[in-house]
Amino acid sequence: KSVNDATKDDTGIRVSFEFFPPKTPRMEETLSEAIEKLAPLKPDFVSVTYGAGGSTREPTRKTLQKVIGTDATPAAAHLTCVDATREDVDAVAADFMSLGITRFVALRGDPADGVGAAYRPHPGGYRNAAHLVEGLSAMGALDISVAAYPEKHPESPDFATDIDMLKRKVDAGAARAITQFFFDNDTYERYLERVRGAAIDVPVVPGIIPIHSFKAVRNFASRCGAEIPAWLAERFEGLDDDPQTHALVASAVAAEQVFDLVERGVTDFHFYTMNRPDLVFAMCRLIGIRADTGDDGELHAA
Ligand code: FAD
Repeated sequence: KSVNDATKDDTGIRVSFEFFPPKTPRMEETLSEAIEKLAPLKPDFVSVTYGAGGSTREPTRKTLQKVIGTDATPAAAHLTCVDATREDVDAVAADFMSLGITRFVALRGDPADGVGAAYRPHPGGYRNAAHLVEGLSAMGALDISVAAYPEKHPESPDFATDIDMLKRKVDAGAARAITQFFFDNDTYERYLERVRGAAIDVPVVPGIIPIHSFKAVRNFASRCGAEIPAWLAERFEGLDDDPQTHALVASAVAAEQVFDLVERGVTDFHFYTMNRPDLVFAMCRLIGIRADTGDDGELHAA
């Protein structure tokens, strides 16, 4: 079914939003505005990232509390296990659970000396994300998401190894995978076929990144092994000093990507909001997600 045929309450589309803990008072304000704007869209959950090695334990906790406090939005805590003992990671998980959190995004994290540096499990820690999923399940976590890589993780020698790791995470109890961002929907679809071919049947939710700054996204992509297709680079070429056109092109690119994924049958989307609501809010509107006013239970076209 085309999204254009969907009436406002029958799209069957579900969204989740990802935020990161702010570093400055100004960023804190921006985050609050983003949460206020996006929470009425009634996401399935809102997740908050967690710095490798526990570097954002307190800010992540504070952000989770802020999310939960906004219209009782369901919150999911990201948790990494790199550079930490199992006891430390479990203590953080227990602390987040004491806030009422039962959803987690279980990740390995990257070594402090950067992506590409060889990963070595902490001698007293969880070995990888699959092991962390096991630990969180044993602690009573009810809904665990894990990471998936449509272009394979940079450390994976091949897709078979990559998908094997995903399978181990799912076998350990993960309910869904959320992908690294990508721009070529064919890449996602091919990956999904490989995943289904490996008898992994949990949802593999596409992670969508809005392009607020093409320069920043390109840098980020090069660090995490995501490809920037030539056609995308061409669209943004020369727009660094033309914010208005940049924003218009970014909206068009975002709309094109989500419409095409809906046409391909995708019903769940995870948005890397970068703590900015504008583009994500617009993308949600385009795929039929509207703010719930909360007063009469009806969905309203604003
Ligand atoms: P794993 O699933 O444990 O492993 C990743 C890959 O490494 C595997 O696919 C596998 O191919 C390879 N590998 C691992 N062990 C072996 C082995 N024994 N033999 C062969 N190959 C192996 N990072 C943060 O610091 N904080 C966050 O909040 C955060 N949130 C994220 C959210 C999402 C949705 C995504 C996609 C990533 C996120 N990351 C975050 C980044 C993540 O920590 C990195 O991508 C990290 O490099 C891998 O983590 P993982 O959980 O995928 O690891």
